[in-house]
Amino acid sequence: MAALKARLAAFVAERDWGRFHRPKDLAMAVSVEAGELLELFLWVGSDEPGGRPSPDRTRLEAEVADVAICLLNLCNQTGIDLAAAIARKLEHNAAKYPVSHAHGSALKYDEYPTDVSTS
Ligand SMILES: [Mg+2]
Repeated sequence: MAALKARLAAFVAERDWGRFHRPKDLAMAVSVEAGELLELFLWVGSDEPGGRPSPDRTRLEAEVADVAICLLNLCNQTGIDLAAAIARKLEHNAAKYPVSHAHGSALKYDEYPTDVSTS
């Protein structure tokens, strides 16, 4: 993660793009790229004649990478340690979705018969 973070920072600096990369724009870019990722699946899975096939792995990888790059860029610009943030959130989610309630269930934590949420 640290190597990618440094490589992305260098990529941005070499192009003098940092002055355009305000947090709100980078957050928007994450959403735009997530939209491009979703677009790959639009109309896929229909049994109707002429439906679209599943996206190929190359296009899927490219859009996943775009989302991740924009997110990492947002983290770089705001000083967020993405790996640490993910680790903290996983810990939080483990408490929010205890195996005793979440195993095999697609319910949201506030839909459990007994509220086990932590926040
Ligand atoms: Mg894209």
